[in-house]
Amino acid sequence: MRVGPSQDEIRRQNLGALLRYVHLHGATTRAELTNTLGLNRSTIGALTADLAAAGLVSEGAPRETGRAGRPSLVVRPESDRVFAYAYSIEVDRMRAARVGLGGAVLDRWELDRPRGLTATEAAPLLAGAVKEMRHGLPQGAVCVGAGVAVCGMVRRDDGLVRLGPTTGWVDEPIGTTLGSELGVDVPVTVGNVADVAAFAEHARGVAAGCDNVIYLYGDVGVGAGIIAGGRRLTGHGGYSGEVGHMVVTRDGVRCECGNRGCWETEIGEHALLRAAERSDARGREAMLAVFDAADRGDARAQTAVRQAGDWLGFGVANLVNIFNPEMVIFGGTMRDLYLAAAAQVRSRLNSNGLPACLEHVRLRTPKLGEDAPLVGAAELAFDRLLADPLDVG
Ligand SMILES: [Zn+2]
Repeated sequence: MRVGPSQDEIRRQNLGALLRYVHLHGATTRAELTNTLGLNRSTIGALTADLAAAGLVSEGAPRETGRAGRPSLVVRPESDRVFAYAYSIEVDRMRAARVGLGGAVLDRWELDRPRGLTATEAAPLLAGAVKEMRHGLPQGAVCVGAGVAVCGMVRRDDGLVRLGPTTGWVDEPIGTTLGSELGVDVPVTVGNVADVAAFAEHARGVAAGCDNVIYLYGDVGVGAGIIAGGRRLTGHGGYSGEVGHMVVTRDGVRCECGNRGCWETEIGEHALLRAAERSDARGREAMLAVFDAADRGDARAQTAVRQAGDWLGFGVANLVNIFNPEMVIFGGTMRDLYLAAAAQVRSRLNSNGLPACLEHVRLRTPKLGEDAPLVGAAELAFDRLLADPLDVG
């Protein structure tokens, strides 16, 4: 006979639910917590006291009430005290941040990344950034974990970067390498940059409350983070969402993955720069320069942007037909491409999308902007805390 959850298990689940709520929604009154979590007032009071004793939340009067009568106490995440380290390893740059419980970026650092930089060379640079941040930590600050967003295919079970076509990384245990460089006893969780950014936008960004979302992230290549039925779609090994390598042109241009005719050879950095006749240039700045030139009336740049926009709509139509999302988010350089060629994207999507799948789909840019990979990497680290707050806090 299966025995139900014990009192202690129920309490831990409730602690996790309460902490998750204030982590995602910020300062919340006890009254709202009582309603939202479906628990009685005394239970909410006891859970809050436990979380406050662990240093994870604080409780106090609301900043302003505007109402008569005794105000309900407000529960706040201890954002300055409890934090995670977050890293984003992109093709042209590396970023590190300290993100507080509640999602605020408290401290940040950025460095250009030469394209040949290996994981072994990158790790001490990232660890050095964190060591600098440590000098400014407030008294009693507690790190609950670290998360890494990396461009590449990441094995779900252990965070091994199996392949980064644009970085040249193969089977790199970046989480382990970073963990030993950091010298702190916290777990380091690794995820693909598009998956991680999707996670962030779904948790606290433009897709909050949406259960079916595709987040397209462009750098040199293009990947997608997919939320299906409210859950992150990872695939069996963790490699789902490699939409940039969806083959769209038989015998097309050679892709960094070794294949020919992948979608990213039509919408990625190389495609745009080639079409704009700027093949000598490369990098995010060079792509942005094409959008800028198109905006200023440069005919060649305009043609390149229109072509890439049409291809963007072509692939989005396929994804919309397959996954039936309610929202498609354009992040990284795909944001700039979408904004520069929204008419082409919509036109192609409308002609290739199935009417039923197009009914409720909204096209959006990220609310968290460039911070999405960092905030998402921190969410990976916070997830463990939120699952069992007293075990970590
Ligand atoms: Zn490819």
